Amino acid sequence: MITELNLSKMRTEYGLPVRYFLSANDAEIFMNDLIGSRVTIEYQHVINCISCGDVTRRSYMNGHCYKCYTTLPECDEGVFNPEKDMAHLGISRDMEWSKQYSLIDHYVYLAFTGDLKVGVTRYNQIPTRWIDQGAVAAIKFAKTPYRNLAGQIEVEMKKHLSDKTNWKMMLAMSKPNLDLVERKKYFLPMLPEDLRLYASYDDSVTEIVYPYDYKLANIKAVSLDTCDKISGVLAGIKGQYLLFDNGIALNVRSHSGYKVKLTVD
Ligand SMILES: [Zn+2]
Repeated sequence: MITELNLSKMRTEYGLPVRYFLSANDAEIFMNDLIGSRVTIEYQHVINCISCGDVTRRSYMNGHCYKCYTTLPECDEGVFNPEKDMAHLGISRDMEWSKQYSLIDHYVYLAFTGDLKVGVTRYNQIPTRWIDQGAVAAIKFAKTPYRNLAGQIEVEMKKHLSDKTNWKMMLAMSKPNLDLVERKKYFLPMLPEDLRLYASYDDSVTEIVYPYDYKLANIKAVSLDTCDKISGVLAGIKGQYLLFDNGIALNVRSHSGYKVKLTVD
């Protein structure tokens, strides 16, 4: 199979293991099926903005051109830093967008992605968000009626926990080495009283299994900006990373918009 496509974040379906789909023009490639096959990805030195399609020299915020990056509501700073989302005060690049994406229920969660981290996501992005980050287990921590409030809780928790994922640790860990229910009970009392009101009563832990056997050593993340041809037997998929038998890891999401030729032997 040889096909040209613009890379985009792989769509996922929760299952044992997670199922991954890569959008290829009008179709989707079921990526789990490619594990065990030789896969070659050749960058064509073109990036098309994932929003407007224009060619852009640089990718901003996972595949946007500069114009979209500076004008679209989905590229506003409240997306990266939920506590800076001001939609609840009527301030937004696009209020209609915010009504759909900011002024809805959000969860603050604890996820094990190689280490314990805190994060914020819209209620309908569970467990997608956890899978995209490569979490092997996650628990809801708090539930809020809009994004900014979830951001305030995250800011409090960032005094104790990271909100970042270390990709090396994420790719190495297959199981959590701590009890998420216990950690949640430990951290909840640290919230100020007005925020503790939003604690989630749902103590179920979601465990996530990836199509990857954790057998690779010396994994090296590569960028298509510096290495325009990647080739190897696909050994597994975790988070948004394709993992090859030669230790190469490609973060598909961070190359959104990159035009590539994909060859599967
Ligand atoms: Zn654009």
